[in-house]
Amino acid sequence: MNKELMTKRISENLEHLKNFTATPNKGCTRLPFTKEARQAANYLKTLMQEAGLEVKEDEAGNVFGFLRGTDPSLPCVMMGSHFDSVVNGGDYDGIAGVICAIEVARQIKEKNIIPKRTFVTAAFCDEEGMRFGTGYFGSGAILGNRTPEYCRTFTDKDDITIYDAMKEYGLDPEKIENAKWKDNSIGYFLEAHIEQGPVLDAEKIEVGLVDCIVGIDRYMVTVHGRSDHAGTTPMNMRLDAVDAATKVIYKIADWARETNDGSVATVGYIKTIPGGMNIVAEACEFTVDIRSRNVKNLEDISAKLHDALEREVGAMGGSFDIQNKLAITPVHLHKPMLNMMEEICKKHNFSYRYMHSGAGHDALEIGQVVPTAMLFVPSKDGRSHCMVEHTEYSDFAKAALIMTELAEQLITN
Ligand SMILES: [Zn+2]
Repeated sequence: MNKELMTKRISENLEHLKNFTATPNKGCTRLPFTKEARQAANYLKTLMQEAGLEVKEDEAGNVFGFLRGTDPSLPCVMMGSHFDSVVNGGDYDGIAGVICAIEVARQIKEKNIIPKRTFVTAAFCDEEGMRFGTGYFGSGAILGNRTPEYCRTFTDKDDITIYDAMKEYGLDPEKIENAKWKDNSIGYFLEAHIEQGPVLDAEKIEVGLVDCIVGIDRYMVTVHGRSDHAGTTPMNMRLDAVDAATKVIYKIADWARETNDGSVATVGYIKTIPGGMNIVAEACEFTVDIRSRNVKNLEDISAKLHDALEREVGAMGGSFDIQNKLAITPVHLHKPMLNMMEEICKKHNFSYRYMHSGAGHDALEIGQVVPTAMLFVPSKDGRSHCMVEHTEYSDFAKAALIMTELAEQLITN
């Protein structure tokens, strides 16, 4: 296998994709169902065609390339990632995994491998959920988890629904359910992705073999008290929403630390209402984002949150609302494929380590039902979701090489 040629092709493709951003020179902004998304999708179709694949865009805006196997009755091997980005994001998150998948297809062709199973390259629409506050739109659609009703429910900051944005993009949201793949038609899913964290770069390790993608529980909490004058209301006569909320908030990080297994909990947003320095706040809103590889920790921390709210808000004399915004169970990735990837790393003398992913990915959605393998390449200084995000092109070539050899074993079996 010619690593230089792989690196050259991957770098050319990714450099070209840098053109498709709404914020030139300020990072990649490629939101779903926009002009930039259309340009990128069209370019990906061209690349897939040039690789000799049969190209299809589905009802959700996903782009697929098919390398047909000799036995169409066998479930396929799918490899891919997403082609959208966050606002002012990096040039590799998601899209590099799509380009690696196309490179794998080129390698399969050039090595004259005759696949028994069909190999499918996938470019998923709207993994980030940046525009509509959702996520995993395209990968969810292929599992049958998206409906016209869903598309009508969520809006962007200009009040445009997914439904109308899809129409504008040239898709028919009434047909979204046609994007579902038949049960058991996908035999394996593979995803290569940048780490988006600092571990591989800090430890100078070339490849991360992802054994688990953490589950996520996300809450919006509102504590209700009563607004009063900050100077004239005695401490024992207040219903201070901030006082009660902070008595809950300060414990949350410790609950995660106490698990001792890498679970994390974050209060990333706090708002006081009305928010005046001389007013006792009548309400305090905050978010809680809990992530863990262990379902029990998600449940425990959530239970502690509920208990602490009951106790502290009760003591204050107010009330609270808690809304669950997201609940995803952790995905444990496919052990036999992890073993195969480990053998391939050993064979090529690539340094590697097992690790979990603290970020969600298309593999998290698809891995709920399909045997899934995921591989990370290093992110310089762990930076991601920002324009300084960087990975060496030769690292993507390594990912493509490992995935080619993994895919070869899967499609010929
Ligand atoms: Zn991503």
